[in-house]
Amino acid sequence: MSRFGARPVVAALLIAVVVGAFFFCEYLIYIPTIFQCAWPKLERTRAGEEGIGVGDSAVRAMVLSDTHLLGAVGGHWFDKLRREWQMERAFQTALWLLKPEVVFILGDIFDEGKWSSQKHWEDDVRRFHRMFRHSPDTELVVLVGNHDIGFHYEMDWFKLQRFEKVFNASSTRIVTKKGVNFLLVNSVALHGDGCPICQSVEKELIRLSRDLYCSLQNAQSNGEGKENCEGARSYPPTAPIMLQHYPLFRVSDASCTGQDAAPPEERHLLFREKYDVLSKEASQRLLRWFKPRLILSGHTHSGCEFLHDNKYPEISVPSFSWRNRNNPSFILASVSSSSYSLSKCFLPEESTVIGVYCSAGACLLLLLLAHCLWVKGLLQLSLCLLGKHKSL
Ligand SMILES: [Zn+2]
Ligand SMILES: [Zn+2]
Repeated sequence: MSRFGARPVVAALLIAVVVGAFFFCEYLIYIPTIFQCAWPKLERTRAGEEGIGVGDSAVRAMVLSDTHLLGAVGGHWFDKLRREWQMERAFQTALWLLKPEVVFILGDIFDEGKWSSQKHWEDDVRRFHRMFRHSPDTELVVLVGNHDIGFHYEMDWFKLQRFEKVFNASSTRIVTKKGVNFLLVNSVALHGDGCPICQSVEKELIRLSRDLYCSLQNAQSNGEGKENCEGARSYPPTAPIMLQHYPLFRVSDASCTGQDAAPPEERHLLFREKYDVLSKEASQRLLRWFKPRLILSGHTHSGCEFLHDNKYPEISVPSFSWRNRNNPSFILASVSSSSYSLSKCFLPEESTVIGVYCSAGACLLLLLLAHCLWVKGLLQLSLCLLGKHKSL
């Protein structure tokens, strides 16, 4: 091959390496990773019944948390571009491969909802709707977090109503699907200090608790305990799955294990009530009112499984953003009215993507070097270098 014929070949190889690395890291990598995830089978529910598949009787719910779309004040444009692209690709690939019926996002959707101006808020919301677009077959349910409306002392009616208006729903309510009650709780308003928003949310929770209690009593044939049920709204007679941003009270993450638990140096740090986790009192009240069969929460950005009072399991869902962790994930939940089963789906690790780009960069350098040596000839290059050395 002539020296002139080598150039197109090298140019083609260079383009193949650059385009291949980009296409793999920005599109393809999500497909094999998420393809490995599957909806968990429901555990056996009756004696002699084998584990059943995810049929028409179970809701397929995808649960993620803490997307933290960066705002105009604290977010660097490249960080914003990168993280939002990653989350968009991961979410769209998950919708395509897994086809959930409902997706729950457990709060801290926006990083700066707590202080963003109306213009910046509208820009954040527009980007959110683009990233998390979905077909009518999937319902997207969003919960409120402290970064969306502020920590308790920053929260006000304007920010809460702005959030609720965008998602067209109250921040505390029950979503029912196929006989399953998903209870959504505005946990930012559970400080118990009698603030107007706290009073309103607590009133709503008490009403929902009564509705659920009466629905259970109505389903029982003996009719006991129906005295105060007049006017109660009817729900399927089953304990709810409770979803909220703050975890219920726990001392620390010391008992948490798994590859996405908090790092060992942070696991023993004590949680602050009403800041890292709900207060003991608010947590006990929620458990007493609703007796949930499962609690799913966010906020800590790390994974954890915790059992409250030896009977109420809680799962902390880690952050979905690579800005907060190297290995984001989401939960796949198959839920029927009497049973549920969970699995975790990990997304590609940031370190893998960086490794692929570094390898592609090394390939580029080697190709350029080989091209240089081949075209000019090793001897000619050496003489040239020697000549330059002497002339110095
Ligand atoms: Zn967060
Ligand atoms: Zn939070």
